[in-house]
Amino acid sequence: MQTGSFQWMKSLNKSTILNMVRLHGPISRAEIAKLTKLTPPTVTNIVSELLQDGLIVESNLGESTGGRKPIMLRINASRFYVIGIYAREGRLDAAVAHLDGKMIHQCARELPTKVDQTDFLESLKALANEALALAQADGQPVLGIGVGMHGLVNPLQGESVFAPHLHLKHVPIKAVLEEACQLPVEVENDVRAMALAESWFGQGREHANFITVHIGSGIGAGIVLDNELYHGVSFAAGEIGHTTIDVNGPLCRCGNVGCLEALAAEPALVTRARAAIEAGRASLLSEMVQGELTRLTEEHLYMAINQGDELAKEIFADAGQSLGIGLANLINTFNPLRIIINGSLTRAGAYLIEPLLDTVQKRTLDASADHLSIVVSDLGKQAALIGAYTLALRKIFAPSA
Ligand SMILES: [Zn+2]
Repeated sequence: MQTGSFQWMKSLNKSTILNMVRLHGPISRAEIAKLTKLTPPTVTNIVSELLQDGLIVESNLGESTGGRKPIMLRINASRFYVIGIYAREGRLDAAVAHLDGKMIHQCARELPTKVDQTDFLESLKALANEALALAQADGQPVLGIGVGMHGLVNPLQGESVFAPHLHLKHVPIKAVLEEACQLPVEVENDVRAMALAESWFGQGREHANFITVHIGSGIGAGIVLDNELYHGVSFAAGEIGHTTIDVNGPLCRCGNVGCLEALAAEPALVTRARAAIEAGRASLLSEMVQGELTRLTEEHLYMAINQGDELAKEIFADAGQSLGIGLANLINTFNPLRIIINGSLTRAGAYLIEPLLDTVQKRTLDASADHLSIVVSDLGKQAALIGAYTLALRKIFAPSA
C-alpha cells in the first residue's frame, strides 16, 4: 500500500472514530470497535492519537459486562472552537462555538447597502479576525471557519458565484479567508447551511430525508437526501421561490411571472397591502404610516396581524395558501419525512401556517405525504449562523461528506 493512501485511510478512520464518539459518547473502545467494524488494535491506536490531539477525553467508567469496568470516551467539546459567519444583504454575523455546537461568543458588522467585492471581503476578514480575537482571549485554538452565504455558492471552490441581493459575482471567499486567517474555510449557500444546522442540532436530527424551507424576503429550500445536502449540477437546487404557482400571477424579480416569491415573500406582501389600501381597503396599516404608503414595511404587517387587522390576516392567509402549493409540489417530488419551516414569515403564526397546512393536505398524494410532518424550526433566527459553524464541524467529524 502506498504511503499516501495509507495516510488517507488512517485519517478517514480517525474521523470515523471521532464521529462515533460525538454521536454515541460516552462510549468504550470495545463498543467503537463493534460499531465501526475496525479491529481493536486499530481503535486503540487511533484513540491514543485523538487523546493526544486533545479532541477526546477519557471520562467516567462505564457499566461492566463482567470483568473490569471499561474506560469511557467523550468529545473534549470545550477544548477547541470553530467559527461560523452568516453573510447577507446589509449584515455579517459571526459566532464562536464549542465542538458540541454550543455558541459561546457572537459579533456582527453592518454592510453598506452598496458594497463592492473589495469592501465585502475586507468586512468579512475584519469580522473573522474579531471572532478569532474572542477565541484567542479565551486561550482556545480554532479548528476551522464556515461561511453561510446568501445566493448561489460553489462549495467545492468556496466561491460566491452570484449574490443577487448584494449585487456581487464570483467572490473567492474561501481563498481570501484561508489566506487571511490561516485556517481551513468551508463556504455554502445560507439555506443549505440552515438545513445542515437542522440535521446536526435541530429537528432534522435522525432524519435522512427532510427539507428546510426559508421564507422571508426571499424563499428557498435546503434539501437533505439520504443524509447528504443535495446541490444539483450547478449548485442551484432548492430554488423553490422561482417555481410557478400562478401562470397569470405578478411579475417576479427573476423576470418570470407568478413565482412563489412574487406571491408569498415579504416584498410581495408589502406591495399587495399598498395596492389594497390604494384601492380603498380600510386597514390599521394605513394609520400606522399616517397614510404615507411608501413608508409601509413588513414590520407594519406583523404589527397589524398581532392587532387582528383583517387585511393583514387576508394577506398572510393567501401567502400561506401559495406556500402550501409550493410545499405540496416539493412533497410530491421528493417524498420527504419532514419539512422544517424557518424565516421571518413564521412570525405570522397560525394566520400563515393553518392555510399552508390545509393546502398541503389538499394537494399532496397520500403516498407522498405518508409519515410526513411539517414543523416550524426551533433554531429560529440563529439557524444560518449555527449552520455556518456546522460546516466547520462537519469538516472535522465527517470530512467524507
Ligand atoms: Zn421568480
